[in-house]
Amino acid sequence: MKRFTLPRDIYWGKDSLAELKKLKGKKAVLVLGGGSMRRFGFVDKVLAYLKQADIETELIEKIEPDPSVETVLNGAKKMLDFGPDWIIAMGGGSPIDAAKAMWVFYEYPDIKFEDIIQPFSFPELRKKAKFLAIPSTSGTGTEVTAFSVITDNKKGIKYPLADFNITPDVAIVDPALAETMPPKLTAYTGMDALTHAVEAYVSSMNGPFTDPLAMQAIEMVDKYLEVSYAGNKAAREQMHYAQCMAGMAFSNALLGITHSMAHKTGPAYSTGHIPHGCANAIYLPYVIAYNAREKSAAVRYAAIAGRLGINEGSVRADVKAFCKKLYVYNEKLSIPHTLKEFGIREEEFLQKLDYIAGAAVSDACTLSNPRQINKEQMKRLLNAVYYGMEINF
Ligand code: FE
Repeated sequence: MKRFTLPRDIYWGKDSLAELKKLKGKKAVLVLGGGSMRRFGFVDKVLAYLKQADIETELIEKIEPDPSVETVLNGAKKMLDFGPDWIIAMGGGSPIDAAKAMWVFYEYPDIKFEDIIQPFSFPELRKKAKFLAIPSTSGTGTEVTAFSVITDNKKGIKYPLADFNITPDVAIVDPALAETMPPKLTAYTGMDALTHAVEAYVSSMNGPFTDPLAMQAIEMVDKYLEVSYAGNKAAREQMHYAQCMAGMAFSNALLGITHSMAHKTGPAYSTGHIPHGCANAIYLPYVIAYNAREKSAAVRYAAIAGRLGINEGSVRADVKAFCKKLYVYNEKLSIPHTLKEFGIREEEFLQKLDYIAGAAVSDACTLSNPRQINKEQMKRLLNAVYYGMEINF
């Protein structure tokens, strides 16, 4: 049996944030990131709405990008002291992901982080609180997904936690929040959304419930990302919805090895984090070339090319046309084409290649990739994304 799970309510459109006025509850904890939501006045708005709803609110602020296990455990401790019946997370992927993980440790204080690394192994939530998510970036789709990415800084590894228990109860997708994104973030998060939709569409878990969401998201990203990057507000709004739909698709159809590679390379190098969406944007064309050797995947990539109106008549040519399109997106969005170009030092890349290849193969996202991959193949694929080589294996 397969399962398709989404939040019960998704409020979307301009001023949908005001829906918070009608929230029913006693106490809410509001989990926030670095401070942009406060600077742009959204925190004050949320607090005023919750006051109108007669809900007492406490803040957990300054969740760092790529939130750590420690941040999660500290936040859960604060929740235990306060006892909220709503967890509200607002901001980019990081505060929302952190809040989802805090939720588990709030409801089950004795659980260990190692107990929830295994996908779909969480205990039942909602005994203490429900979860409401308000995204401010247009990429992760985390407001509708069963995922949370938490970083173990000691091991230098990102863990994609997965369980339908952490799919939020309510999402508020208000485009006003996404208007504040700077161009670089717009590009990276937009390419993350595209990668979600493409990987979900070709995933071994794809199906009739997720296909339309994935395909529509791909079409919308194609239409709106470049204009949104240039600052067009109407396009920004559409990207905010597109990334949410991509989230709905991949939350249920899962992802593939583009994400496996992004998770494991992201925090691995001493030259600094590779932003998640940037890593995906670099890797996706190479992964498509690798996966397209599996016929059923190639047919699906060709269907995407067809939907985008760039089909050339044969599956092989269509896959190529789609890869070329991705190359052009990266050009237009000032995203490098290789890890070398991104600035990863060759010596460090080669030194860590074996370990990262192994870690990427065992990432949870590898399981739903349409073509199998072993460690040797992953090493060759990583080499290709570093040097910009053709995929012929
Ligand atoms: Fe992603």
